[in-house]
Amino acid sequence: MLSRRHAIALAILSPAIAQAATKLRVVASFSILGDLVGEIGGGRVQPVVLVGPDQDTHVYQPKPSDLRAVAAADVLVTNGLGFEGWMDRMAEAAGFKGSRIVASTGIAPMATDDGGTDPHAFQNVRHVMGYVANVRDGLAAADPAGTETYARTATAYLARLTKLDADIRAAWAPVPRNRRRIITSHDALGYYGAEYGVTFLAPQGLSTESEPSAKALRGLIEQIRAQHVTALFVENISNGAILRQIARETGVKIGGTLFSDALSPLGGPAGTYLDMMRHNTAAMVAAIK
Ligand code: ZN
Repeated sequence: MLSRRHAIALAILSPAIAQAATKLRVVASFSILGDLVGEIGGGRVQPVVLVGPDQDTHVYQPKPSDLRAVAAADVLVTNGLGFEGWMDRMAEAAGFKGSRIVASTGIAPMATDDGGTDPHAFQNVRHVMGYVANVRDGLAAADPAGTETYARTATAYLARLTKLDADIRAAWAPVPRNRRRIITSHDALGYYGAEYGVTFLAPQGLSTESEPSAKALRGLIEQIRAQHVTALFVENISNGAILRQIARETGVKIGGTLFSDALSPLGGPAGTYLDMMRHNTAAMVAAIK
């Protein structure tokens, strides 16, 4: 009986394997975009992710296999807003000739005090609705035969994002505004904070590339004490040494791990974008309560 089931399973699988070669080859710069492309691709797309789960896009170093993937790609999907500072050079080095989708196109970026642009727009679910529309339209332009598929999968996924957005608001509703203060390693959750009414403090800026100065760290510790911040989180993409130092000096307990710039591996607490946003929200609300 088992062997017959196996035979049936193989018979179903093998056309899919044969078809894989004809799928649209889409390279996504990092894990969150890879998940979105997989959702919207609806089986017509073969997504390849460059910066994988728990990896840091800010300091990514392309491998030879990544260059080969980009060289062979039909479509390249990036976040934009300066998140993948290495991408243009890489696409040129790979001789990339396909089409490009910049997922954040049309989103009003958040500026920072020092005149920089915050690239982490994917931390706001409403912005990701824009990402989905851009990916849907870009895939349809590269693969017109799939237009209906992409429209259908995008509509279904947008409904799930609408539910997610409402659930995040509902989760925060019982938490008083003046208690919604959270410390993270780097300044990745500004868009989340602006949309859902949470203030984030971080020793590192918008990128993980530079270490905070002793003076900046001292200032942050004083601010944490003065504002009675009670929630402190490490991030899945960073080693957390600075955060542990802050926890020691302020007595604030580490509330867990937030997934800021990358998903967890599949099967982990944040294996998909939807799971990531639900995990982060539940962890932050629980730490403050
Ligand atoms: Zn970041």
